[in-house]
Amino acid sequence: MSSNSGIQIPSRLPLLCTHDGVLLPGSTMRISVDTARNMQLVKSRLLKGTSLKSTIIGVIPNTRDPEHDSDELPSLHSIGTAGLAVQVVGSNWPKPHYTLLITGLCRFRVTQLLRERPFPVAEVEQLDKLEQYTEGGQADGELGELSQRFYQAAVQLVGMLDMSVPVVAKLRRLLDSLPRETLPDVLASMIRTSNKEKLQVLDAVDLEERFKKALPLLTRQIEGLKLLQKTRKLRPDDDKRVLAIRKGGVFPGRQFSLDEEVEDEDGDDTAMLEKKVKAAAMPEPALRVCLKELKRLKKMPQSMPEYALTHNYLEMMVELPWSKSTTDCLDIRAARVLLDNDHYAMEKLKRRVLEYLAVRQLKSTLKGPILCFVGPPGVGKTSVGRSIARTLGREFHRIALGGVCDQSDIRGHRRTYVGSMPGRIINGLKTVGVNNPVFLLDEVDKLGKSLQGDPAAALLEVLDPEQNHSFTDHYLNVPFDLSQVLFIATANTTATIPPALLDRMEVLQVPGYTQEEKVEIAHRHLIPHQLEQHGLTPQQLQIPQDTTKDIISKYTREAGVRSLERKIGAICRAVAVKVAEGHKVSRVESPTEQHEGKAYQNTENKDEDSGIASPPEMPIVIDHIALKDILGPPVFEMEVSERLTLPGVAIGLAWTPMGGEIMFVEASRMEGDGQLTLTGQLGDVMKESAHLAISWLRSNAKTYLLANGSADPLEGTDIHLHFPAGAVTKDGPSAGVTIVTCLASLLSGRLVRSDVAMTGEITLRGLVLPVGGIKDKVLAAHRANLKRVIIPKRNEKDLEEIPAHVRADLDFVFASTLDEVLNAAFDGGFPAAVNHPQVVSKL
Ligand code: ADP
Repeated sequence: MSSNSGIQIPSRLPLLCTHDGVLLPGSTMRISVDTARNMQLVKSRLLKGTSLKSTIIGVIPNTRDPEHDSDELPSLHSIGTAGLAVQVVGSNWPKPHYTLLITGLCRFRVTQLLRERPFPVAEVEQLDKLEQYTEGGQADGELGELSQRFYQAAVQLVGMLDMSVPVVAKLRRLLDSLPRETLPDVLASMIRTSNKEKLQVLDAVDLEERFKKALPLLTRQIEGLKLLQKTRKLRPDDDKRVLAIRKGGVFPGRQFSLDEEVEDEDGDDTAMLEKKVKAAAMPEPALRVCLKELKRLKKMPQSMPEYALTHNYLEMMVELPWSKSTTDCLDIRAARVLLDNDHYAMEKLKRRVLEYLAVRQLKSTLKGPILCFVGPPGVGKTSVGRSIARTLGREFHRIALGGVCDQSDIRGHRRTYVGSMPGRIINGLKTVGVNNPVFLLDEVDKLGKSLQGDPAAALLEVLDPEQNHSFTDHYLNVPFDLSQVLFIATANTTATIPPALLDRMEVLQVPGYTQEEKVEIAHRHLIPHQLEQHGLTPQQLQIPQDTTKDIISKYTREAGVRSLERKIGAICRAVAVKVAEGHKVSRVESPTEQHEGKAYQNTENKDEDSGIASPPEMPIVIDHIALKDILGPPVFEMEVSERLTLPGVAIGLAWTPMGGEIMFVEASRMEGDGQLTLTGQLGDVMKESAHLAISWLRSNAKTYLLANGSADPLEGTDIHLHFPAGAVTKDGPSAGVTIVTCLASLLSGRLVRSDVAMTGEITLRGLVLPVGGIKDKVLAAHRANLKRVIIPKRNEKDLEEIPAHVRADLDFVFASTLDEVLNAAFDGGFPAAVNHPQVVSKL
């Protein structure tokens, strides 16, 4: 820079107007050029000119170039810095622009603007007389003293930096070799200063004033550094200081950084990562991989896409809970209390869960079976899982598997893919932050399968206690020990769980609830919970048992309690509005009366005046009328008795993944030639049942006097059998008895009893075989208010599972033959003419 001293700048200079940054003599700055006038200047002066003079331009700070070319040039700052364009880089992206590297030479003042277009050119007067500077010599008087103070401050600043860094050492040497007068400009552009402060230094044409303006800035920087070093001593990571300096740049035009957290981040990121890797207590193989990746990362430039990938990978690795775990605090007695408090009914399930926990308490390294709760939605499977986690004092994480059809969802993507990430198991572990959580694998029966591999196969590895201590996620590519994780699965049905997976699990059936159980659950758990959720108290809202029963029977039809909970939520919302309105009125009208129970009695008259509806008396009790107001007219009416007013209708009991259901079977006949038509989305087994039923009836038509005198009841007749709710596929053998009863009713013209439901598989010889899902089916019949249930004799043992009060309400008929079924299904029995065939006289 001392070599500039002889330079005389031209008297006419093209002007580059900048709006970000101030160029000071003696520093170098990068300027982005994208406005029309500046672009023109670069094109015609810098890109075409050949002489050294043509690369000298005037840089005028703080000027915004007008949007359009034709616009007037705004008023220019009168003082600028003549600069030497050292480098010009052009680019067309994202829009055409140039980047100039300019080194400031000296100040100038604009004396006259000669022209404005295509770029401004002005007559200038050089202000810094560079050749006058005393080379190394001392100035006298106040100026001398100022420059000495400034020099010392600069030396102090550099002294605070780390001399082992080459640029710092170079700066230290420069301080001695530069003329003192240039120091304010050089240092002001290096240290952290705002544009405004730099502009003040630029405007200080007088040397003395310039020193005065720049000295406080320098002192401020020194103080800042001191403060920083103090805090660093508290956190003894000294290496940051070096990095800060290296980055902050003693390069001309760049500034020191005090905001280390923001600007140093990437610099010491790898150092931080390395620390984290060492602190993560990984097993040997993982640590080795991490250190190797870290080494690669250090060599990589940050702009490389792989840098981000590797960085993310290492972040993931250090966040995984390799050896972090919670301690189990299992106390079986407390667990029993907690399970009982959280859940009403479900005795069998709770007993099995307690057994499971008890064994764990006795043998903590238990590699027991994985529990799988199977039952309709809303019966509390998830919430039991959550309770188990609480009793054990473990973290809980739910992994929804419904619709997952790609094995990388479980096992992760290989890191070669863009956007690759670990699977849900590893992600879950990262989320909970410990390696022994309770993982609830929700809806294992809804796992899909696709070309991307079979997620069930991947789950097998996760769940197998022999393999899962070295589960290898594709993304991590190192084994992670899952043996401490407690897995619990839930499903609606076992039918769609892949057999290999089912084999690993112990299935616990969670059947639906009876109406009485639902009422209890509502009053013990759902209502208090919903009240709390809506900020209400039992003093504000009461739902009597009768209303709950109404909600259950008229507004919901489900095995679980989920829509019941939603309906209660709807009531709470409606009441919350009333309560909030009440509050407001009472606050406005009579604030003192609020505490009293009957806070609203006086407000009525005032309300009439003000036109505000009177707030309701507390508590608000939901009766039948209020229920109808809030939830609308009943959604489900008891339609059973109405539908059984014609012959040819019977009620069967079906099991679906949603729980038990009652199912109507309808038949009609018309003239034809003995065809059987079946509708209602039936599976093959169901169709076979229908054919069996017809065959049995034809062969026994005479016995039951169904044929109307002819040999075959189907002679000249077509029969149509329909199973309503056509959108739902129905299959399974258990509708056999219902079809027979329905057809017998049609052919005999007699009505089936309207309060009877039945289930059972039939054989061609008229025997009734046992079926599954008896508890759910019986509960469905009970829900529908039916009185008699016909079930196969061999299912009698299943009644044990059914609550006593339900058993007491129902009249069970155990049938082993179709004859018994028909007798129970019709009022007054269905007499067979058994005695007659043998005794009919042939005469
Ligand atoms: P699932 O997982 O079986 O579909 P959830 O566990 O999500 O059902 O249960 C739905 C709601 O019903 C939860 O708020 C739960 O607390 C409640 N619930 C279900 N069964 C019971 C029960 N026996 N006792 C208390 N609350 C229950």
